[in-house]
Amino acid sequence: MTTNHSGDRRTFRAPKGTFDLVPPRGEAMLAVRDAMAAPLRSAGYGYVETPSFEETTLFARGVGESTDIVTKEMYSFTTRGGDDVTLRPEGTAPVLRAVLENGLHRGALPVKLWYSGSYYRYERPQKGRYRHFSQVGAEILGTEDPASDAELIVLAVDAYRALGLTGVRVLLNSLGSHESRPAYRAALQDYLRGLDLDDETARRVEINPLRVLDDKRSEIQKALASAPVVTDFLSPSDRAHHDTVRSLLTSAGVEFEDDPRLVRGLDYYTRTLFEFVHDGLGSQSAVGGGGRYDGLSELIGGPALPGVGWALGADRTLLAMEAEGLPLPGVTGVQVFAVPLGDEAAAWAFGLVTQLRRAGVAADFATGGRGLKGAMKAADRSGARYAVVVGERDLAAGVAQVKDLATGEQQAISLNGLVTHLQRLV
Ligand code: AMP
Repeated sequence: MTTNHSGDRRTFRAPKGTFDLVPPRGEAMLAVRDAMAAPLRSAGYGYVETPSFEETTLFARGVGESTDIVTKEMYSFTTRGGDDVTLRPEGTAPVLRAVLENGLHRGALPVKLWYSGSYYRYERPQKGRYRHFSQVGAEILGTEDPASDAELIVLAVDAYRALGLTGVRVLLNSLGSHESRPAYRAALQDYLRGLDLDDETARRVEINPLRVLDDKRSEIQKALASAPVVTDFLSPSDRAHHDTVRSLLTSAGVEFEDDPRLVRGLDYYTRTLFEFVHDGLGSQSAVGGGGRYDGLSELIGGPALPGVGWALGADRTLLAMEAEGLPLPGVTGVQVFAVPLGDEAAAWAFGLVTQLRRAGVAADFATGGRGLKGAMKAADRSGARYAVVVGERDLAAGVAQVKDLATGEQQAISLNGLVTHLQRLV
């Protein structure tokens, strides 16, 4: 039984649907985020950081009142000051809000931005679906050029490739713009009204029929098999935009699959829509996704400002790497490990590792006056290639023993030249 008074001795666990990242998966997650950011940095994107929470209305308007995210999944609360705020469930609406607030759209266009952080959705937890998760995102604002849509897809594919993933598939669709959407919406509604649907879904048909396409229930998916597809309704300019994206992807050597039934759980998309999926992940197969959102700026009170972007899920990308049997990235350990024997040697070893670290050599040392055996075990665990073993007698003689932990070879090296010697070795 647990109690709340000061005698409470229960232990704590991470909240439901969340998890801790501890080494070596912690390093792996950093490496995944770095790999996602690297192609963006080399393509002229600037880094942006926004708060973890925003005014609730931003998401209600930006993501869409009738989406699952807004109706069921937001962590919303009223602050002590009476403001209604929500932990961000996604990154695009906040980044666009920041662009408008900081006037970036009044400078040179397009504005290319990337970001990385935590996102929160009150979802039913399962493998690959968490209540707190990590995304790296990218947005291009202020251009309708289909080359921007293609650029983003290529950069995401390059990130997955750099991580060694071979099983990521690109699904591509176009939802059309305001020119194409009304005719499609009407055709889809006609079709959906002919189906035997539960009350909630029937209501959805009237409010937001495209959302019904995203219903994952198998009986609904079956009923949708012969529904009209959006790509049959594209206007000439929407069709031309889509065709350019497709041909640019092909010329960049990026394979994709046309998926005219692809819809995503956010309302703001127009024209290009895409998802990156991995078949080793079970039901939560999307490792990333995005699309064009030319009307979003107006929805959140801004001027016309077309945009396109994506968010890649770092958690699921790491799961995909594990599913492919790839080694955990980013786990490097140290290069040199100092093993001091005795108090005088301990103080000296502390000085040595400080010098090594400042000289760019990753180094660590045995603490707590451990004996030779325990300290050598720690050296092995550290991942270091070289151990520097030093006792009082070595110090008196002005040397340290440098042991190659891979070959077992050991050499006495003069203390004066030790840092340079190790720098050369590693
Ligand atoms: P979305 O904003 O839903 O398009 O999400 C973009 C990517 O973030 C998805 O493809 C997933 O990889 C990841 N993602 C979204 N929701 C979750 C979640 N609840 N848990 C883990 N990853 C998620």
